Amino acid sequence: VRGLMAGKRGLVMGVANNRSIAWGIAKAAANAGAKLAFTYQGDALRKRVEPLAAELSAEVVGHCDVTDPATIDAVFEKTGELLGGLDFLVHAVAFSDKDQLDGRYIETTADNFHKTMFISCYSLTAVAQRAEKLMNNGGSILTLTYYGAEKWMPHYNVMGVAKAALEASVRYLAADLGPNNIRVNAISAGPIKTLAASGIGDFRYILKWNELNAPLRRTVAIEEVGDSALYLLSDLGRGVTGEVHHVDAGYHIVGMKNPDAPDI
Ligand code: NAD
Repeated sequence: VRGLMAGKRGLVMGVANNRSIAWGIAKAAANAGAKLAFTYQGDALRKRVEPLAAELSAEVVGHCDVTDPATIDAVFEKTGELLGGLDFLVHAVAFSDKDQLDGRYIETTADNFHKTMFISCYSLTAVAQRAEKLMNNGGSILTLTYYGAEKWMPHYNVMGVAKAALEASVRYLAADLGPNNIRVNAISAGPIKTLAASGIGDFRYILKWNELNAPLRRTVAIEEVGDSALYLLSDLGRGVTGEVHHVDAGYHIVGMKNPDAPDI
């Protein structure tokens, strides 16, 4: 893949630390020759993101909290100045109150429903609006979703509802941006132990369940999500848009517990 992304400029939103899925994607893109810029959310994460960006000789374009549109405008403006345009965008942003990623979905409050939808779903549209203006030669936008959008999963609750809306947004944005040769896709990643995932109730059980029942009998690593992302971000995926691609060791095809799996 060396050289696959040569000449491509990408903005990566959603690195919190070196366990972030966005970091796995960034490493793959940079190793394939892409020039990257990163945003970070707040000063605490700036200290994490700056050294990671330096590892990949990437730019850091500033603080972005997707609930504050001025910060979105600022990072896209800076990206345009520093990179001179944009060829791809990685959106790996999601949030919900931890106390509602446990127990019953029905207990979701209106306030957290709105917050979860806004940060985890609407933000893709908000960043796509800005990206469109910088993607003058076409482009590729990629977001991250989870199987809890398609099927009920314990504890995933309002995040599952937001991911379902996010996947629908991928299709609507793909239709809007297709005439400009801007593609919009999602990777549905299997469970990975990250900062965001640690907020989900019984996450260790979910990891173990996937490991025992996925066709490949394991979970996936951020590097594997990164390698699959390369296909969608690069010209290899030039005929693909509006797609939700599973990178989950095959778990999404499973209809029943593996009879050989031990009890957990
Ligand atoms: P992570 O904690 O490393 O990344 C989540 C990111 O979201 C952080 O960088 C955080 O700063 C950012 N974020 C949250 N609220 C924000 C806001 N208001 N403004 C700007 N940024 C904000 O965790 P991750 O697991 O790498 O998550 C990345 C994406 O992958 C998320 O969309 C998540 O739902 C999705 N995903 C994760 C898994 C998993 O098991 N970890 C599986 C499938 C999909």
